[in-house]
Amino acid sequence: CSLLRFIQDNKPENRNLQVAAEQEVTAVELSHAITNHEITLAFQPKLTVQGLLLRGVEALARWKHPTKGIISPGIFIPLAERHGLIDALTRYLLQKAFEHKRRWQQYGLRFHLAFNLSPLSLADADMVDWLLKMTQDFGVAPADVTFEITENALLGELASAIRTLARLRLKGFHIAIDDYGTGFANAQQLSRVPATELKIDRSLVHRVASRPQQYTILASTVTLAKNLNLTTVAEGVETEEDFLVLQELGVDLVQGYYFSKPLFADDLLAWVKTGIS
Ligand code: C2E
Ligand code: CA
Ligand code: CA
Ligand code: CA
Repeated sequence: CSLLRFIQDNKPENRNLQVAAEQEVTAVELSHAITNHEITLAFQPKLTVQGLLLRGVEALARWKHPTKGIISPGIFIPLAERHGLIDALTRYLLQKAFEHKRRWQQYGLRFHLAFNLSPLSLADADMVDWLLKMTQDFGVAPADVTFEITENALLGELASAIRTLARLRLKGFHIAIDDYGTGFANAQQLSRVPATELKIDRSLVHRVASRPQQYTILASTVTLAKNLNLTTVAEGVETEEDFLVLQELGVDLVQGYYFSKPLFADDLLAWVKTGIS
């Protein structure tokens, strides 16, 4: 029955309907959504390749629209960026993320929290000080928090973005270069970013087991990351075959539907309790 529903929901015509509805959201609605707490976070586990232990979770924004269903961040984050709402949205979501992190710590769970930062947030002058205050208020160690910044964001406003990242790093936060492999950063540019982690984009990971050329690119990416002393994370792992390749290449962490979809906080706790099967 649930499989039938899945097929039903994913019929092309139904998918299109969903997307059409999502695209109709406006900046005014988004602004109200922030005030009315309609935007929430889902969390996707990041696991160690060795032993499949829960290392951390990535916070992913979800808009629970009262009539249009769940709206993807791929729609409303760019909308927020275009309409000057991103700083307010980011701070609102960061506060939610810290609240969850504090609760997990109260339960004795100490896994890391990863949070996606818009490149525009790196230009928010007060962000670093505000973040430090948040870590104090919520009793969260900066070393337990990773900020994910896309490779492309680092290619644009390189100098000022790197200055902000360096300040964050100096305070103990971790920095991940996200979606690596979708942009054209060269090794030298990469080495100038004060990053601790490289997240290999799912376009390089997806079906790597059956694509020799992609395997070559993935293998050299892992080598580059290791030479730069970066923790390697493969995202979008959907099959066991792909996982086995990543294991063979010595990737450190994995994330993807094969292990878990992004989960709302209650489901995440249930998932943690039952352990990884
Ligand atoms: P991202 O940072 O690259 O996040 C990974 C995306 O891949 C997520 O999509 C996640 O649900 C999806 N994903 C995870 N595992 C798999 C898999 O095995 N297969 C496939 N096909 N997809 C997988 P999502 O949640 O729709 O987020 C899209 C993008 O929106 C994120 O890409 C991130 O760039 C941005 N985003 C999400 N939340 C926030 C936020 O709070 N702030 C900012 N600035 N950006 C956010
Ligand atoms: Ca990310
Ligand atoms: Ca990514
Ligand atoms: Ca992405």
